[in-house]
Amino acid sequence: MALDRSNPVPNDLSAFWMPFSSNRQFKKQPRMFVGADKMHYTTADGRQVLDGTAGLWCCNAGHNQPRIVEAIQKQAAEMDYAPAFQMGHPKAFELANRLRDMAPKPFEHVFYTNSGSESVETALKIAIAYQRAIGQGSRTRLIGRERGYHGVNFGGISVGGIVNNRKVFGSLLTGVDHLPHTHLPDQNRFVKGQPEHGAHLAEELERIVALHGAETIAACIVEPMAGSTGVLMPPKGYLEKLREICTKHGIILIFDEVITGFGRLGSSFAAEHYNVMPDLITTAKGLTNGVIPMGAVLATKEIHDAFMTGPEHLIELFHGYTYSGNPVASAAGLATLETYKEDGLFERAAELAPYWADGVHSLRDCPHVIDIRSEGLIGAIELEPIASEPTKRAFQAFLDCYDKGVLIRTTGDIIAMSPPLIISKSEIDQLFGTLRDVLQNLQ
Ligand code: PMP
Repeated sequence: MALDRSNPVPNDLSAFWMPFSSNRQFKKQPRMFVGADKMHYTTADGRQVLDGTAGLWCCNAGHNQPRIVEAIQKQAAEMDYAPAFQMGHPKAFELANRLRDMAPKPFEHVFYTNSGSESVETALKIAIAYQRAIGQGSRTRLIGRERGYHGVNFGGISVGGIVNNRKVFGSLLTGVDHLPHTHLPDQNRFVKGQPEHGAHLAEELERIVALHGAETIAACIVEPMAGSTGVLMPPKGYLEKLREICTKHGIILIFDEVITGFGRLGSSFAAEHYNVMPDLITTAKGLTNGVIPMGAVLATKEIHDAFMTGPEHLIELFHGYTYSGNPVASAAGLATLETYKEDGLFERAAELAPYWADGVHSLRDCPHVIDIRSEGLIGAIELEPIASEPTKRAFQAFLDCYDKGVLIRTTGDIIAMSPPLIISKSEIDQLFGTLRDVLQNLQ
C-alpha cells in the first residue's frame, strides 16, 4: 500500500510524554516509523527496518495484512461502536467462539478487555470473585513471582516482580506474596528450550501456603515463559509442579499468556505447548495482531458457571470496560485468527524454531555474551553489563541495530527478539548477521 506522506513528522515533539521510554534521549535523536508492511517498517527518512520484535511482541502475522486491514475498514463503515453492557453485536460472539475453538479444551468462555494489563486485572478479580462464589470468601491473597511482568496497573504491578515497575508507586495491593524467579544462570546457561534445573522452585508455593493457610489464598499468576524480564523458559517439570500444588490447595492458577498466546512458541498457547492447563489464561497483543487494542481472559466452564446462578435478570460479574468486545476490535480479531489459520502461522513458527534456535545460539562466541535462551520464535541474548552503567551496553546494541536496519528490543542488559511468524530463513540470517556485526563492534 502506498505511504501517505501528508502526515510529516512534527517539529515539536515535546507534548507527547512517551511510555516506557527515555524521553529526553529520544527527543534529541528521534526514531520514527511512518509505514509498515509484512516484515518491515519504513522510517521517516525512508529506510527499511526489519522487524525483529513483531512490534512489541504483538504483530505475529506481520504488518499490513490485507485480511485484517479490510475487515477493520468494513466494520468501521458498517457499525463503529455498540454499547458493551446489556447489548451485543454478532462479531464479539463470533470471535469468542473462535477463541474457544482454538484454545485448549477446558477454556470455554471469553471475557474481553483492551490490553494485557486489563486482562491481568480482570483475571485476578475473576479469581477472587470465583472463590467467593463457591463459598471460599476468605481466599483473597494473591501470589505472583519475582521477575514477573503482568502489565502496569496496580494489581499487575503488585503481583509482578519488577522492582522498577513497583518502587515509586506507593502502596500496592496488600496480601501478595512472590515465588522466586526461575533464572539459575550457574546451572542453566546457553539452553535451547526448557532448562533442566529449577523445577524445585515451584515448591516455594507450599511454603507460602504453609505460612498463610490455603484458605486465605485465591490465585497464583505466572507467565509460563517470562517474556519482558528476559525470556526465561520454565524449567522442566516446574509448571507441572505449580499445577499440582494449586490443585491440591484449591488455588486458581492463572497463566499470563499476553506474549506466549497466538503462536509465539509454535502452538496456540503456552498451556498447549507445555501441556499444563491453568484455570484462567490472560491474552492481548497477538489477538488482533496488535492492530487494534484488545485483550481477553479465557476461563474454564467451571469458573464461568460458578457465576451463572441466582435470578437471571441480575448482573453476574460487576466488571467490564466501555470497549469490551468493541466491534472494530472484534473484526480485527476475527481476521487475525483467520490469517493465523489460513496461512498456517503457528505450524510455521514450530517448523522454523530449530533454525531460529541455531541462529541465535550461533552468537555465543560474540564479545560480551554471557547467556543465550530460545524457544519457538523467541530468543534472548544476555550481555555482560558495564559495571558502572548497567543497561547501557544493550541499549547501544539496540541503537546500532536500528542504524543498520534491524529492530530488536532490550530489557536491562538482555536483548530480546520475537519476529512476526512470517519471517523467512534469509531474514533470520539477516537479523543474526546484523546482530553479530553490532556485537563485535560494541564497547
Ligand atoms: N502481561 C504480560 C506477560 C506482558 O508481556 C504484557 C506486555 N508486554 C502485559 C501483561 C501488559 O500488556 P499491555 O501492555 O497490553 O497492557
